[in-house]
Amino acid sequence: MTEHTGLIDPFGRKIEYVRLSVTDRCNLRCFYCLPKQFKKFEEPEQWLSFEEIERVMGAFARLGVSRVRVTGGEPLVRKNLPYLASCLSKIPGIEDLSLSTNAVHLAKHARELWQAGVTRLNVSLDSLKPQRFKDITGGGNLSKVLDGIMQARKVGFAPIKINMVAMKDVNDDEFDGMVEFCIENGFTLRLIETMPVGDTGRSAIRHYLSLQQVQQQLAKRFNLVPSIMSGGGPARYMRVANSDLRIGFITPMSQHFCDTCNRVRLGVDGMLYLCLGQDHKYDLRHFLRQGVSDSELDAHVIKALSYKPQRHEFNEKPQQVIRFMSMTGG
Ligand code: SAM
Repeated sequence: MTEHTGLIDPFGRKIEYVRLSVTDRCNLRCFYCLPKQFKKFEEPEQWLSFEEIERVMGAFARLGVSRVRVTGGEPLVRKNLPYLASCLSKIPGIEDLSLSTNAVHLAKHARELWQAGVTRLNVSLDSLKPQRFKDITGGGNLSKVLDGIMQARKVGFAPIKINMVAMKDVNDDEFDGMVEFCIENGFTLRLIETMPVGDTGRSAIRHYLSLQQVQQQLAKRFNLVPSIMSGGGPARYMRVANSDLRIGFITPMSQHFCDTCNRVRLGVDGMLYLCLGQDHKYDLRHFLRQGVSDSELDAHVIKALSYKPQRHEFNEKPQQVIRFMSMTGG
């Protein structure tokens, strides 16, 4: 294999992380993510097969990507996901395989996923109040989710990161409670600002809450000290003094972090999205199904990277991203 210098985008950023959406379908309907009646999902013939996913991820790995996060839609609704995970974790060069899930089906799959080589989990959890959780998620069952998270902890996942979208008039009275829940259970908490992705995301912007404000609110109750956390993500971390809890603040709106962007997103249909907040994309499936060789596939990935834009424009052009978050996995 020839020595490579890695995937460098036109702005000098090294791309070493792929978020891999294995389905655009989801068993929940979070009001800020997917419309309730949405039916226009990709059909199975449009999905990349497991073999095609492995080929694309093999290309990324040859080009220096070492970290893959499996996401969706809800990744655990894709059949045989643990099998795919075991294939991905064996790709030479992939050192870190993680999963983002709503945890509805996690209790059933946690052990298999762990055995397949998934080591880190992010779980979406916007509320610890059963009725509110149900309202936010369009019918989700909180106790199933909590069972899933606890089962994952039992089989060895650590850290487990709890992702909470911070929303005014929705869950802004629950930050203290979520901090306590995470301290008690040894989880990491990540707070996320609402983003105008898709019509649903845009209409949820009325609930937007700047995390600068949330941090100030938390600091009244908890002693927050600056911290770091390995994982290469965009969150800025604080630790709650006298505890192991770290809280990540993900602030795409109030303080964007595009200068350090190290990732691209692969849709279930093989479309490579170069930025969460822009429409720049490159259709890898087209070339896969034309029978490209591995070296040709590598060349397509390198070419795709040349289209990566400098930054999102969520604040300047909130109308821009038409696709729903479930297509790219957040
Ligand atoms: N189903 C998986 C899960 O629940 O983690 C993976 C996909 S989900 C789209 C990934 C993350 O995107 C979730 O944490 C979700 O809360 C977040 N998300 C979706 N729409 C969003 C929006 N408009 N603004 C901010 N975060 C959003």
